[in-house]
Amino acid sequence: MSRQAKNYSQAVPALTPSNGPAGNPDTKSRTICGMHPQFLFCGIGGLSQRSQIINLSENLSCTPGVNQAEAIGKSGYFADMALFTTSLNSGSNANCYYIGNGQEAVLIDAGLSCRETKKRMQRLGLPMEDVKAIFVSHEHSDHIRGLAGLAGKYQLPVYITPRTLQATKLSAGRFFHLPLLPGRPVQVGDLTVTAFPKWHDAADPQSFVVEGQGIRVGVFTDIGAPCEEVLRHFGSCHAAFLEANYDEKLLEEGTYPAFLKSRISSEHGHLSNQQALALFRVGRPAFMSHLFLAHLSQHNNCPQLVGQLFSHYAGQTEIIVASRFQETALYRIGHGAHAGQPAQVPATPQADYV
Ligand SMILES: [Zn+2]
Ligand SMILES: [Zn+2]
Repeated sequence: MSRQAKNYSQAVPALTPSNGPAGNPDTKSRTICGMHPQFLFCGIGGLSQRSQIINLSENLSCTPGVNQAEAIGKSGYFADMALFTTSLNSGSNANCYYIGNGQEAVLIDAGLSCRETKKRMQRLGLPMEDVKAIFVSHEHSDHIRGLAGLAGKYQLPVYITPRTLQATKLSAGRFFHLPLLPGRPVQVGDLTVTAFPKWHDAADPQSFVVEGQGIRVGVFTDIGAPCEEVLRHFGSCHAAFLEANYDEKLLEEGTYPAFLKSRISSEHGHLSNQQALALFRVGRPAFMSHLFLAHLSQHNNCPQLVGQLFSHYAGQTEIIVASRFQETALYRIGHGAHAGQPAQVPATPQADYV
């Protein structure tokens, strides 16, 4: 298979560092978003940029299943237009989400090793050459463990906020990076990637919406509390990766120390199944075809339990529970006749990777 040579200066326009937020993290150490008591967690920074927390349980009592934000994402009928997406891994061990349009693709986070990322993409028939950039949500190691290796080996530009870059403690010279500015869209070929701040215990944590020809896929994980911005963006998406980290009862009755339980359930920790479900019920647009339940806790959640919980309210939306051990199928997200079906995967995976 022939591939065009990469030209990052054309594929990914640079942004000017002078427009970036001031870099002054209060993060003391890097950690996983995780749940194991042996790990310390980071300080909290950048709160001033995050939008107001909202109480979704109040909205549930007066809101039918489909939401007020529907108009944001309706941008016309595109019969043949689609994005393709998969979770290569999701959980406190590693996170990496692929979103592409068949020509170019981006990775949201790089928590898998370079070798494992390539292997899982290969199984889905996804050429690494299609990946044009990596976007980093925050510095916790389950989101950046493979970043330097992957970006270095494939010469991928990394979009990252200055404060997150500093908090990673990675040498800036190990990979080519560009400043990510919340609310300012980045064009990667025909894909548009927009970051916006979220509530989480990291220096400058961001969620993402990736748009291609009117189709939108959102990545909303590592969120301590739902806010106006996440609700607004969720309501614009045709598919979304939404954190459903823990079952409240399992967490409460589990063996984690009290400080960790309280960190997980705080507004700077993670979304519970019930919080995620409330966001889904209040914020889901009628055109959302797929919901990927993401970043499930290994010890405080159960894939079957959370899958059943959401299926009860799913309506026309297909519910997929993203695994912490393997990739999901590759899904086609679009308006065409095949929307809602896993995308075709070549019988023989392509093996012409660099
Ligand atoms: Zn995290
Ligand atoms: Zn995480």
